[in-house]
Amino acid sequence: MERRRFGRTGLEVSVLTLGTMRLLHGWDAPHDHLPEESLSSTFEIVSAALDSGINLIETARGYGKSERLLGAVLPRTGRRREECLLMTKAPPAPTAREMRLWIDDSLVRLGVSRLDLFALHGLNREEHLRALRGKGGVLSALRQAQDEGVIGPIGFSGHAELSLLLRILAGNDFDFVNLHYYRFRRSNHPAVALAQALDMGVLIISPNDKGGRLYEPSTPLQALTAPLHPAQFNERWLLSHTGVHTLSIGLSAAEQLPLHLERLGEKPVWGAREQAIAARLTAVESGSALNSCGQECSACLPCPQGINIPEMLRMDHLIHCFDMSLFARYRYGMMRPGDHWVPGARLDSCDDCNECLPRCPRGLPIPGLLREARTRMET
Ligand code: SF4
Ligand code: SF4
Repeated sequence: MERRRFGRTGLEVSVLTLGTMRLLHGWDAPHDHLPEESLSSTFEIVSAALDSGINLIETARGYGKSERLLGAVLPRTGRRREECLLMTKAPPAPTAREMRLWIDDSLVRLGVSRLDLFALHGLNREEHLRALRGKGGVLSALRQAQDEGVIGPIGFSGHAELSLLLRILAGNDFDFVNLHYYRFRRSNHPAVALAQALDMGVLIISPNDKGGRLYEPSTPLQALTAPLHPAQFNERWLLSHTGVHTLSIGLSAAEQLPLHLERLGEKPVWGAREQAIAARLTAVESGSALNSCGQECSACLPCPQGINIPEMLRMDHLIHCFDMSLFARYRYGMMRPGDHWVPGARLDSCDDCNECLPRCPRGLPIPGLLREARTRMET
């Protein structure tokens, strides 16, 4: 499998990373109970991934049993520790002391003495940014762990709105970043470009799930991306960016891996076939009479009711253009007002205050569009 230099970390990473958020029964309580069924499924997944040439496995303190399952399974694969890179993530802790405890916790759960890559999980709020620096700040704990050789390069995963993401990146404190960026969500392109300019490693978070639930695509979408599967097209689109280094493929069963391997080695990664598919998708989007909020500029925000207007219009557009209703309803179902992972209030909370209208540079009739979106999103 192709490997790419993961920015200034200097590490060579496979273009696919094994993501372990969706391991079998991985979220069932209690998290320290590891059922045999989960262990054997995780063993199959990890073995298949390593056999395919994947050399980076990523997990998180917050992924239920994931760290513990990996800790139990990795020695069983018979691989030497240095044959694969391990990345884990933990939220920004309230204090440097707690941050260090969480790092040590991850080491124990994973059964290793060193983490090759460590990321702050979800630098999503202003207060996260403020807690980073200074004496006793989270970064001081990370730097100390680095100096002691306990962790390698440090990065962060960002789920915030673009302007905050760009400010965190511009601080230049991190060697890599985990980002949401997909063919069907391109608004984070400036973040990818800035990370590339800063020579940071770029890992794409969950391109198949967060990128559109592409493992269960609609019939129209499959027809548009044929002969590629939509997931394969999205992966090739991402890998055509030189600033993107690896895609974290979350597997819940080893049988899901071949779909991602089938076309991976075909060169060029972005040739006439891919360009034709891209043109077909763009033609459908441009021909849509539904709404023209493709730019996700976010000028309409904040909505006093907490509605995530650009995201709702983006998802409604995906339903309209590509029948991606499964994905849209899934993401809508995850939204919570004030949440820093997937923020957004229910659509019925719009009270027609019309505050958003004058802010939209495209003059879109936002409240009416949201009413229409509701009929598609909530049926
Ligand atoms: S009209 Fe609706 S969507 Fe627009 S700002 Fe008011 S509550 Fe929010
Ligand atoms: S201001 Fe208009 S174009 Fe910009 S994100 Fe909001 S609805 Fe879309």
